Amino acid sequence: MPEVLFAPWRYEYLVAEKPGGCIFCQAAASKNEEESLVVFRGRRVFVLLNRYPYTNGHLMIAPYAHHAFLSDSEEETLRELIATVARAEKILSDHYRTDGLNIGVNLGSAAGAGVSDHYHVHVVPRWSGDTNFMTVAGGVRVVPEELSVTRRRLASLFDRTGS
Ligand SMILES: [Zn+2]
Repeated sequence: MPEVLFAPWRYEYLVAEKPGGCIFCQAAASKNEEESLVVFRGRRVFVLLNRYPYTNGHLMIAPYAHHAFLSDSEEETLRELIATVARAEKILSDHYRTDGLNIGVNLGSAAGAGVSDHYHVHVVPRWSGDTNFMTVAGGVRVVPEELSVTRRRLASLFDRTGS
């Protein structure tokens, strides 16, 4: 079963850095939430949708600061990071009726990080029997409309649950 367990992280090359710099810093600086797929902005961390989701509702939580490692962050950032991950877990469990979640972080390109110099925690909703989703999500099935609907829905859920 490790095959299934680790599958969500294998495709991370899809989020690899594009010309023009760090996608997380770009999203952090963006004023256009629709375009940058930002779902929620905290004080030190923010939440965005993965543009190439492994499953519907695949979120990433990253610090605003361009840091490669968890240990580069101040304790307050780490506290907000894990609290935000927990919030994402709760929202996805409650509103997406998940059967499980993969939560994880790849540190360094050897570990599979597509963007290795700005760490980000993946929160991937899972449903029983979704193991074949990879063949779909790894392709080009994801259409922008679906992402923008998901983004709006999650943004309002983050707003409603407060912090
Ligand atoms: Zn960055």
